[in-house]
Amino acid sequence: MKKLTGLGMTSQRTRARMVERLRDKGIRDEAVLAVMGTVPRHIFVDEALASRAYEDSALPLGCLQTISQPYVVARMVEELLAGRERLGKTLEIGTGCGYQAAILGSLGQEVYSVERIAPLLVLARQNLKALPGIHVHLKHADGALGWPEAAPFDNIIMAAASLRPPPELLAQLATGGRLVLPVGGKEQYLCRIERTAQGYSETRLEPVRFVPLLPGTE
Ligand code: SAH
Repeated sequence: MKKLTGLGMTSQRTRARMVERLRDKGIRDEAVLAVMGTVPRHIFVDEALASRAYEDSALPLGCLQTISQPYVVARMVEELLAGRERLGKTLEIGTGCGYQAAILGSLGQEVYSVERIAPLLVLARQNLKALPGIHVHLKHADGALGWPEAAPFDNIIMAAASLRPPPELLAQLATGGRLVLPVGGKEQYLCRIERTAQGYSETRLEPVRFVPLLPGTE
């Protein structure tokens, strides 16, 4: 809670500036822009980096992982929401510090999030506690396997890059559901896959840079 009060008004102004930068970069969905302006990103980064929390950049979060760049979070969530009234049930792969889970949770949806590194899950749980209105189901597991007990999902969003969409995740999509993920190794692009009654349709979006999806847990 110390971090929340520490930045006060400054944080509100810098948050508003961050939203303006997201608009400049092409984010159009007002619901997405609103939650990006409301969720305090500084509580998800190390105190030493809190002053940089509203820059549009990825930042280290420990265990060699990074908190995603706000633009990329907004862009991916926008892809999930496009043409829909509401998100529905969402699965996130790669909780990290919990920032994107908080964004998804603030959109008022049922959110499930899986992380393979145990200490990060502890960190995410602690960070999310500072936001009492947001509830996210968290699990320590290999996200490539999804969350079968909670499937099917209206959305699956991956915060780590895979050479191809994990088959278990495709199988856990509801009909009409969407999977948004970074595809590739050294070179990656964002991809949106929709499950229809006939099968899966894939749309290639823009180039991105994510940490790799790794197997197993630690
Ligand atoms: N969602 C975070 C981004 C975290 S970075 C945010 O809001 O900033 C990506 C995360 O994916 C890392 O924490 C990494 O440990 C995790 N990850 C990588 N492979 C995974 C896997 N197979 N299952 C679950 N998490 C995985």
